Amino acid sequence: MKIGFIGLGIMGRPMALHLLKAGYELHVWSRRAASIEPVLAVGAKAAGSAAEVATQSDIVISMVADAPDVEQVALGPQGVAEGAKPGLIHVDMSTIAPGAARAIGVRLAEKGIHFLDAPVSGGETGAINAALTIMVGGDEAAFNQALPVLQKLGKSVTHIGVSGAGQVAKACNQILTGVGVMMVAEALNFARASGVDPAKVRQAMLGGSAYSKVLENHGQRMLDRNFKPGFKAWMHRKDMKIVLDEAHRMGISTPTSAVTAQMFNALVGSGEGELDTISVLALLERMSEVHHD
Ligand code: NAP
Repeated sequence: MKIGFIGLGIMGRPMALHLLKAGYELHVWSRRAASIEPVLAVGAKAAGSAAEVATQSDIVISMVADAPDVEQVALGPQGVAEGAKPGLIHVDMSTIAPGAARAIGVRLAEKGIHFLDAPVSGGETGAINAALTIMVGGDEAAFNQALPVLQKLGKSVTHIGVSGAGQVAKACNQILTGVGVMMVAEALNFARASGVDPAKVRQAMLGGSAYSKVLENHGQRMLDRNFKPGFKAWMHRKDMKIVLDEAHRMGISTPTSAVTAQMFNALVGSGEGELDTISVLALLERMSEVHHD
């Protein structure tokens, strides 16, 4: 099976490397030449466009940014749809709105292309360790065909339901991780403002009912003040907007997501959108006038 890969950023690059290591023929394209250089160096083949990637492939994976990017890659000029053979499976692993995923799936189906929304959780570390959690929406037969490839990228691959269902699961995931990052930042800032060592507080909490992976992983990076992305703040803000837009559409209340989204707005508005989302800790500190050497 030949695979195409588009979107070789923080997440996409290690994912593409796993597919090469597994022995798949891999065709890649990127807007910036520098993005594909590391995978070309280990055997990937360069294509001139997303359409050319599709011509060479049975499955095309995209790992770009937001819905307009997926739409451009799939359906834009020189996009996947222009080069695809009927029956091609396009697996989009970016995080986008469920409605956008469904709409792209319908338009690709008109051209004989199967579309799966397959967003991921696990972050850069999960991508590097091939330990992602992958949540898939779309046709079950296409899912079964793509499964062996997805299993090279993740430890948990779940078919959630029809087209868009993977993105619904990811939105739920982002409620938990977005609010979780806020909660951990709030607790660590509270400890420090109280004159107590936040590292000791975190260590104690790891053994109790407040334990979470976010406390463990993101909490440690907050203590290290390692704000290098990881997961860019503007991307997390995008995901909270997906949650709030969907909640608005359905007329349901998501109060903690709303507060978290406001904090991520402030983070991006203060020019820190390219930092990791955990830099919300530094924002909280500025708001509380807690200073550090
Ligand atoms: P990233 O480092 O910014 O990489 C995104 C890549 O997509 C870049 O290489 C960029 O290409 C490419 N791209 C964006 N728009 C494009 C377009 N219109 N056409 C062609 N290529 C395009 O982002 P990332 O952190 O890997 O995130 C990718 C996706 O995964 C996002 O949807 C994000 O929400 C999701 N996600 C991220 C994490 C995480 O921890 N980072 C975790 C789970 C899910 P160029 O290099 O050519 O500009």
